[in-house]
Amino acid sequence: MYNINMEKNFCNKCGMCCTDIAVDYSKRIMYRDGIQELSETFAGILEPVSEKNGITLCTCKFLFDRKCTNPNKPEECKNYPSSPFAFLPEDCGYSGEIFVKLEDIKHKVRKFKEEILNYEIMLESEPELERLIKHHKAFIDRYKIYGSNEW
Ligand code: SF4
Ligand code: SF4
Repeated sequence: MYNINMEKNFCNKCGMCCTDIAVDYSKRIMYRDGIQELSETFAGILEPVSEKNGITLCTCKFLFDRKCTNPNKPEECKNYPSSPFAFLPEDCGYSGEIFVKLEDIKHKVRKFKEEILNYEIMLESEPELERLIKHHKAFIDRYKIYGSNEW
């Protein structure tokens, strides 16, 4: 799995990732650090602001003057953004880092798709390629919820 290097602190402390947090309460998921399960702890700090087509935009109750005032930040905040699929606000300092990681994954998915096509042609004479095809398909499927079938 790809992770963002949190040792490089690109955060400019704009506070924007603590507002407009998109939540689907019916599915108990949120679109923030990729698509995440909505934990009870995180749900407890959210303040719904608006709702459209089943998606609720929330802000955090602990955000004041663009600063976090929560002495007990949930894990979801300590690690954000850790996913190449993080939903970043405009001008987030991690945009470049996330873009590069995401392109890496997309490149690998495209390469695997090409290889699958080649392997399928050779499969009759080289049945052991089935294992590689399965491996590549599993990798592509891992990112299906983010649209890997279309990359
Ligand atoms: S949006 Fe990005 S730069 Fe702004 S506070 Fe969040 S992580 Fe930091
Ligand atoms: S607890 Fe702090 S870091 Fe986490 S969402 Fe709220 S304001 Fe942002």
